[in-house]
Amino acid sequence: MSAPHFLPLVCPRCSDDLAGRAVDRVAFCPACRRAYRVDGGTLTDLPARRATLRPPGDGPLLALPFWIAGEVAVPAFLGSRPLTMARIATRSLAAWRIEDGLAPPFPRGARVAPASAAAVCRLARLPAPPAGTPPVLLAVPARIDGGRFLLPGEAGTLYPDDVHEGRLL
Ligand SMILES: [Zn+2]
Repeated sequence: MSAPHFLPLVCPRCSDDLAGRAVDRVAFCPACRRAYRVDGGTLTDLPARRATLRPPGDGPLLALPFWIAGEVAVPAFLGSRPLTMARIATRSLAAWRIEDGLAPPFPRGARVAPASAAAVCRLARLPAPPAGTPPVLLAVPARIDGGRFLLPGEAGTLYPDDVHEGRLL
């Protein structure tokens, strides 16, 4: 049994509080707009990109976290139909107009480790991520409606523990 660990919830750059929970694989600093990968108690710089799409509707906006691995994108959040979401994200990357860096809303609820991207790709019959590629976080803006999220032409359900009062925790 491993000892409990605690996330050092302080940004290594600006010493501001990081946003992230013990179950999350990603913490981010809203002040620096930087993301960190969380492995046990260790924080590692995590390159991050964002999609500039405009989700349908006019409810609250959130950002769903994905892992970019080579030419594919797989969900880093827990939700319904992860394989379908991986296929949709992968074929939408060009249409979503990806830019470098993070901007609000920041992606929350990244519970899935980047190491599982290869298995998701295999199950979803997507190209395998190139070996040794460091993971990149992708923030995809979505509309939220209760426990559902809306993307252009697609909707899904979020893990109930991750959603509270219309936002991802
Ligand atoms: Zn910071």
